Amino acid sequence: MPLELRPNCECCDRDLPPESKEAYICTFECTFCLECASNTLRFVCPNCGGELVRRPVRPGAKLVKNPASTVRVLRDKPCGPAAGR
Ligand SMILES: [Zn+2]
Ligand SMILES: [Zn+2]
Repeated sequence: MPLELRPNCECCDRDLPPESKEAYICTFECTFCLECASNTLRFVCPNCGGELVRRPVRPGAKLVKNPASTVRVLRDKPCGPAAGR
């Protein structure tokens, strides 16, 4: 299964298009922008406690057969180092 490539940050709802180099994901593909991942979350996923790493960019030609997800996922609780633990 390819990555879903979710279209937004779960914390601040910023757009994270598939070519963005500022998208960070955990192993379950919880998706965050660079600013939230680094400043707010310290590269730890607030949902599962896993590590956040930069999402690899899928080459544009590959998006034709394996398009990015358009389903926006947003946390119902505010993000923060202590949130949800
Ligand atoms: Zn964000
Ligand atoms: Zn996670």
